[in-house]
Amino acid sequence: MSMLASLFKTLLKIPYPAFCRGCELYCPDDAIFCATCDQHLRALVSVHLSLGKNMVMPVYSAGAYDFPLKNLITAKFRGDLLASRQLAKLVISRAPAHVFECDYIVPVPLHWMRYATRGFNQAHELAKALSRITKIPVLTVIARRRSTAFQSKLSAALRQNNVKDAFGVAWRYQLGGMPQLEGKRILLVDDLCTTGSTLMSVGKELKKFKPAQISAVVGARAVY
Ligand SMILES: [Zn+2]
Repeated sequence: MSMLASLFKTLLKIPYPAFCRGCELYCPDDAIFCATCDQHLRALVSVHLSLGKNMVMPVYSAGAYDFPLKNLITAKFRGDLLASRQLAKLVISRAPAHVFECDYIVPVPLHWMRYATRGFNQAHELAKALSRITKIPVLTVIARRRSTAFQSKLSAALRQNNVKDAFGVAWRYQLGGMPQLEGKRILLVDDLCTTGSTLMSVGKELKKFKPAQISAVVGARAVY
């Protein structure tokens, strides 16, 4: 084998860059964070968001939106798709196993305009990566009807208003072929949860289809 072929073979074996996502120093194997940075990753207990009458949605996360997890979330602004797959790995290892006992994974949609500028939706990429591991199908049943202002730039009260009525059933499902969601267990997926208003808005849309349960999992959750 030539040196080049041998090098290529070695490179192919490395599924992730051999650098820590926290400190960017060399990190062996396929670890996402080095041992030191991993110690900084703050685990969070689940929070519960009300979806109105008779339904509460638990929200699980891989940890706090802080160093080093924050680096994986903000990687989307650099077009980094690998970060979504790494987030999926972290979510699976850190959320309780029962979270993935569900029928469908539904990603929080991005407005097509923002999709056009960024080229991908990190929530959808995270959902697809989770689906590949868990074999639970992804259902892109909810669409963003209007482009909303960046949540991070708004106060909590304005955020609630900002996402009100921003979501609806995706056009292609409005035209037919809507899967039966009644009695199903739905797992909502987003990369980041700040106040929870986006998750609540999407959850309320899904609740209209009378699922048995809606829970959510996010890459990171901001803690105030
Ligand atoms: Zn590190």
